[in-house]
Amino acid sequence: MVVVMESNATEEQIQRVIHKLSELGFDVHRSTGVTRTVLGAIGDKTGIDIRDIEVLPGVREVIQITEPYKLASRTFKPEDTVVKVRDVEIGGNKVVVMAGPCAVEGRDQIMTIAEKVKKAGAHVLRGGAFKPRTSPYSFQGLGEKGLKYLREAGDAFDMPVVTEVMERDQVDLVAEYADILQVGARNMQNYALLKELGRLRKPVLLKRGMASPIEEWLMSAEYLLSGGNFNVILCERGIRTFERYTRNTMDISAIPVIHKLSHLPIVADPSHGTGIRNKVIPMARAAVAAGADGLLVEVHHDPEHALSDGAQSLYPEQFEVLMREIKVIASVLGREM
Ligand code: PEP
Ligand code: MN
Repeated sequence: MVVVMESNATEEQIQRVIHKLSELGFDVHRSTGVTRTVLGAIGDKTGIDIRDIEVLPGVREVIQITEPYKLASRTFKPEDTVVKVRDVEIGGNKVVVMAGPCAVEGRDQIMTIAEKVKKAGAHVLRGGAFKPRTSPYSFQGLGEKGLKYLREAGDAFDMPVVTEVMERDQVDLVAEYADILQVGARNMQNYALLKELGRLRKPVLLKRGMASPIEEWLMSAEYLLSGGNFNVILCERGIRTFERYTRNTMDISAIPVIHKLSHLPIVADPSHGTGIRNKVIPMARAAVAAGADGLLVEVHHDPEHALSDGAQSLYPEQFEVLMREIKVIASVLGREM
């Protein structure tokens, strides 16, 4: 449940409520906003009389949240969360674009692509070093070598980097090189991994599972938040439906739904969302128009020879067009790029 304090509640009154909630066995998370303090109480409220809290001095309202996620909800934190990654802010007024190849394939490849996406205006460089592939015979990524090349390219072109971490035991290694740790669609419900990332204070990009309802996605975010890591960015990457003309069905409506339910920023990945190069730009435009806080886009200078996801990777020239177009859309919404 969430305890909303009066705007003029004193520190003493707030402390008394925190004490009472702790006594009742709740784990209390405090959020101090501009106008008022809100207390998130996590725990089993079975057998507890809510009125015992409602009557405490300084309490304005006790809201029993029916949704199972609490820390991720707007009720708990009404203001948007802005995740800071070096000098890039995700969830603020700026639409942030993360771009790069699906996988880091070599030093020259990532350097070439980094230079091109930077020139077009990308803010963050992406590239997978550990790749979750459907087939064990497909390219699995360069591992630590890939992380090193990605870091080098990010530093060379002054961009923070985002890359996927697949297992709990990889977290420390990936965190050494990455600015944002990506949890892939296949791992959205890898709870051991989420718990480990919750202990970290580094930003996490949490992709939506390909068969996950929004509520389960937010429950996964809750694992990170309840571990103490509030640097969480959600990423809509398409869900699996009966449709076969696209690889996935890009759920654009998830963007306004998330903005209503949660304070967390949400970015859109039209590359995996459609799986087909010529569908990426239209869906990128739609995502920005729907209020996405950013995009994650696959770009490759030689997609015909890419070791993964070439068919959905934009040519650098197409990425330039995308950047120009979404800038116009962002400005209509009063947002910068
Ligand atoms: C990726 O970003 O390359 C990736 C594997 O994404 P997803 O987990 O959404 O399939
Ligand atoms: Mn990919």
